[in-house]
Amino acid sequence: MSTILFNEIVFGPIHSRRLGSSLGVNLLPRYGKWCNFDCLYCECGFNADGKSDKSLPKAADVKAALEDKLSTIHKEGGNIDTITFSGNGEPTMHPDFPAIIDYALELRNRFFPNAKVSVLSNASRIGVPDVADALLKVDNAILKIDSAFEETTMQIDRPQFHYSLENLKKGLNMFRGKFVLQTMFLRGEYNGAVVDNTTEREVSAWQKLAEEIEPREIMVYTIDRETPAHNLEKVSVAEMEEFTAPLVKKGYKVSVSG
Ligand code: SF4
Repeated sequence: MSTILFNEIVFGPIHSRRLGSSLGVNLLPRYGKWCNFDCLYCECGFNADGKSDKSLPKAADVKAALEDKLSTIHKEGGNIDTITFSGNGEPTMHPDFPAIIDYALELRNRFFPNAKVSVLSNASRIGVPDVADALLKVDNAILKIDSAFEETTMQIDRPQFHYSLENLKKGLNMFRGKFVLQTMFLRGEYNGAVVDNTTEREVSAWQKLAEEIEPREIMVYTIDRETPAHNLEKVSVAEMEEFTAPLVKKGYKVSVSG
């Protein structure tokens, strides 16, 4: 399969379906993937197929690359809607994530005060105090939860540590009203087992969980590109709109991307 790895520390701006003109920041290896999940749908590929590069960019290099790019876009009269931490894995795993977020906020204020700072995270490290503080400082902490059931999360997202939904919910307490819940809907099969977080049972539990954890906003989406697990299917926008309709009715801001 073809995987998409971001070979730069700062990349774009690219047009994001959900965030607009987005300047990406990759805190992970430039030629490999590093994540504590191993999602069936990861656009960077399976962890086991990750290229040999394991080196993380130094905080000073991230800062210099971001400053350089923002200053160039600014000088050229361009604009961006968001600085987005994503890239080849889980950004909060970088040991200097909190300091880098502080610097990104400072640069944003200096060059594009109307832009947002966003972090796409699998929420695995929200229990680490300085990571949580950093996520609470950014405009969009976009935290992924793909199922309200541990067994489904184990099947789709394949966390590489002891995953506990209860711990996750505890960690999310301080994020009430301050984060964006992101959920990938898909169905198919992997290794002979059915994979499906769109069943009635799944969707109803997911809706309950969403209300319980009180996100500020909800983003749902489906597969957009080739995935490392081959027999996975996209879910239609119409179906995802049905899944989210009760939450929309209750006043939640929801975006659906097909
Ligand atoms: S959490 Fe994100 S980076 Fe990590 S395996 Fe899943 S999709 Fe890939």
